[in-house]
Amino acid sequence: MPVYQAPLRDYQFILDEMLHIYQQDALKGFDEIDPDLVDAILQGMADFSTEVMLPLNSVGDLQGCKLVDGKVITPEGFDNAYWQFVDNGWPTLTCDPEYGGQGLPEVVGIFATEIQTATNMAFAMYPGLTHGAYAAIHAHGSDALKQKYLSKLVSGEWTGTMNLTESHAGTDLALLRTKAVPVSEGVFAITGEKIFISSGDHQLTDNIVHLVLARLPDAPEGVKGISLFAVPKVLVNNDGSLGAPNTLYASGLEHKMGIHGNSTCVMVFEGALGELVGEPHQGLRAMFTMMNQARLGVGVQGLGVSEIAYQNALAYAKDRLQSRALSGAKSPEKAADPIL
Ligand SMILES: Cc1cc2nc3c(=O)[nH]c(=O)nc-3n(C[C@H](O)[C@H](O)[C@H](O)COP(=O)(O)OP(=O)(O)OC[C@H]3O[C@@H](n4cnc5c(N)ncnc54)[C@H](O)[C@@H]3O)c2cc1C
Repeated sequence: MPVYQAPLRDYQFILDEMLHIYQQDALKGFDEIDPDLVDAILQGMADFSTEVMLPLNSVGDLQGCKLVDGKVITPEGFDNAYWQFVDNGWPTLTCDPEYGGQGLPEVVGIFATEIQTATNMAFAMYPGLTHGAYAAIHAHGSDALKQKYLSKLVSGEWTGTMNLTESHAGTDLALLRTKAVPVSEGVFAITGEKIFISSGDHQLTDNIVHLVLARLPDAPEGVKGISLFAVPKVLVNNDGSLGAPNTLYASGLEHKMGIHGNSTCVMVFEGALGELVGEPHQGLRAMFTMMNQARLGVGVQGLGVSEIAYQNALAYAKDRLQSRALSGAKSPEKAADPIL
């Protein structure tokens, strides 16, 4: 199994000596944060990730997700690990305390994300997308929408997704065709097909909050006519309990190299009921809150995956004996010298 040691000393250096986050002027609004607290959190994340998430990485990629009778099932062990992750409060780190979050600065969450993606990127994408959905609703949703969804997304009891891409509309979202038709005050019926939807469906949680880009009937052409909707997998009653299943489903699973443990789905919406997030026709702006989270996440995924690749290449080059060094034997007592 690959080895991994979270680069905690590097994180301390960046936070303390480079960004100086513990000087209060540099971090207004986070008066209670101190190096001991942050070190303890990141150490805890490192322990959880190496003990629970890392052993599931190859299991996840070899087994992959499965679509059985219209429902997506994650690889063995993901359920258990996900609920340990939730029970330990990891999704709450940087979220608003009003909705059950711990109110830590995003910069601390970024390091926690790097550790998660280094050990198991496919797994880390479930809470990763959820955090983006939380951020978009938090920034743009009505009070009612925030009350309905935020505490469940913050705790991790429900997950979230981002539904932009259609088969003919990737980079160019101006081309998207998914429709939203008003059905009653504040409620819309969403119809269309989205592809490449990370964490699109799974059995990990009882509900999934899909954030979906769609066009209203009077929408102007292009990106100025796109609105954002919160469309739950299971409808939520006024008292917060779960109601009937919504009319949406995963019609297929996509295959993405190295992250088969994440359920990347083709999602079909057949008049699924949803509510507007933000103003009509301003959906791309609202979705950019989530996309910006996703961009940071993708950058950090690159760092995390390179870190674990480097650590394992280094261990191999120190251990593997091949040939003699050109400058003379370095381990004459052995049959050959280590590559490094
Ligand atoms: C790991 C992963 C996870 C994803 N998760 C999600 C998700 O959760 N939700 C979601 O909605 N989508 C998701 N996507 C889809 C992603 O948003 C799209 O793949 C992306 O928007 C690019 O679209 P495309 O693949 O159709 O590429 P295209 O739009 O076909 O572009 C292909 C290439 O051509 C370039 N290009 C485009 N137009 C031009 C032009 N006019 N001239 C020159 N070059 C051009 C692009 O920059 C790109 O390099 C995911 C994708 C990946 C890889």
